[in-house]
Amino acid sequence: MQSITKKEKEQKLQKLKEECNKCKRCSLGATRNNIVFSDGNPDAKILLIGEAPGADEDKTGIPFVGRAGKLLTKLIEDSNMSRKDDFYICNTVKCRPPENRVPTDEEKQVCEKYLMEQINIVNPKVVVLCGATSAKSFLGSKLKISQIRGQWFKILNNIDATVIFHPSYLLRNHSEEPNSPRWLTKEDLKKIKTIALPK
Ligand code: SF4
Repeated sequence: MQSITKKEKEQKLQKLKEECNKCKRCSLGATRNNIVFSDGNPDAKILLIGEAPGADEDKTGIPFVGRAGKLLTKLIEDSNMSRKDDFYICNTVKCRPPENRVPTDEEKQVCEKYLMEQINIVNPKVVVLCGATSAKSFLGSKLKISQIRGQWFKILNNIDATVIFHPSYLLRNHSEEPNSPRWLTKEDLKKIKTIALPK
């Protein structure tokens, strides 16, 4: 894609968000309080895709603001990166699935148009697939996150992509011992920084 300025990206994303605000293309549109479009820097080198909004996100309209989101922010900061400046953050679907269930394949497919546009506009250097739902959307539904986490892939138009554990999973796994899920996630974030933000 031809490179565009940050201001142009902001304008295009704002237009897409307005379209998304009115969207009722799947049943999730009937139960949401707010669409949860994105957070972070539209000009970021790293675009992180989570699963779906939860209750806190549905209330605020911002992705990753609950306990899991706070842990994600801490892990990013512990890796000497800035959530606000270095990341553009969104989800596979923009509306909260009732009872926090996993979005269906059909819901993800219907909502994919917004996600693809976001990736196209932000034009990141690296895509981070955060958690199994996000990873399966791009890499195939049969893969196990424990097998693909930390690996690197090419997705879409030759964009480098990698998989990390979802912070909700890390909230249930407190250990920071070597090879624990939190330790592995920190290692993954260090690698992401090296590739996306070389000195
Ligand atoms: S989840 Fe996506 S497709 Fe479904 S109503 Fe919300 S914005 Fe539209």
